[in-house]
Amino acid sequence: MIIVVKNSCEKNQYDNLVDWIKELGLDVHVSRGETSTVLGLVGDTSRVDIDLINSLDIVEQVQRVQEPYKNANRKFNPLDTIVNIGGHKVGGNIFQVIAGPCSVESEEQIITVAKAVKKSGATMLRGGAFKPRTSPYAFQGLKNQGIELLLKAKKETGLPIVTELLNINDIDLFEDVDVIQIGARNMQNFELLKEVGKIGKPILLKRGLANTLQELLMSAEYIMAEGNNKVILCERGIRTFETMTRNTLDLSAIPALKEKTHLPIIVDPSHSTGVSKFVPSMSLASVGAGADGLIIEVHNNPKKAWCDGAQSLDLEQFDKLMIKIKKMLSIVDKVYDGE
Ligand code: PEP
Ligand code: MN
Repeated sequence: MIIVVKNSCEKNQYDNLVDWIKELGLDVHVSRGETSTVLGLVGDTSRVDIDLINSLDIVEQVQRVQEPYKNANRKFNPLDTIVNIGGHKVGGNIFQVIAGPCSVESEEQIITVAKAVKKSGATMLRGGAFKPRTSPYAFQGLKNQGIELLLKAKKETGLPIVTELLNINDIDLFEDVDVIQIGARNMQNFELLKEVGKIGKPILLKRGLANTLQELLMSAEYIMAEGNNKVILCERGIRTFETMTRNTLDLSAIPALKEKTHLPIIVDPSHSTGVSKFVPSMSLASVGAGADGLIIEVHNNPKKAWCDGAQSLDLEQFDKLMIKIKKMLSIVDKVYDGE
């Protein structure tokens, strides 16, 4: 339920209303606008008397919210959420590009890629240290050593780092990580979502391989219900009957999510296509569809990559793509955050 309160009301009238809602055992999410304030009520609202609230003169409107997600709902927070990552803002009219290899392989590899993507204008560095692989015999990531190498790359380049957390027991290693990625395979690992909801770090939540947008929003709600509002959604392709691409990029997810949620949405054109040749066109299409950023796999030698080489851009391809992305941004009234 949302209650729209006129900003012209007296402070004590406003405080009385909020206290009364809290006494009913509900949480109140406050979103202040220029002329009115939206109070989002979270919890069992069945005992709230809508007619009574509507009759108060400080109240402009009361509305029941049908959707099961509350904190993530745009009705609760009409303005776009902007997530701050080491001075880089994700959301609003700002655009970010996160780039780097699928997995961290060596110091030389990650530092080379980090320096190159920074030079091309990327604003954050990605790299997997803990890898969720389909086969238990495939490379599982350099784990803690991988995190250490990412931190070295961060120190050398100043780029904030984004890396995936698979198991909450490893959380202490992530202290200096800027953004924790929850991968597609863990989108509905509810216990993990609750745990990352308890920490204050930004979370990049990827859409599951076969999950609806509503399920993605419910997963964001799990994180937000624990108090962490710094959630960035990521469309990374879903599984369909199509076999020419690794997944099917659901571009309509961007406008559909934008309508339903205030959270920023970025696109992963690498995992959604699985083919490096398709990454540039899908990146530009994502800009056109209104995404707040991209996360792109880039490797200094894709043919020799330990993981996802076929979908990784080389350094030159990424550099060329960045020029086009920046040109495209003016059409959608977005501003690039990097150089
Ligand atoms: C990744 O980003 O390397 C990754 C494993 O992505 P996803 O969870 O989307 O498959
Ligand atoms: Mn990958």
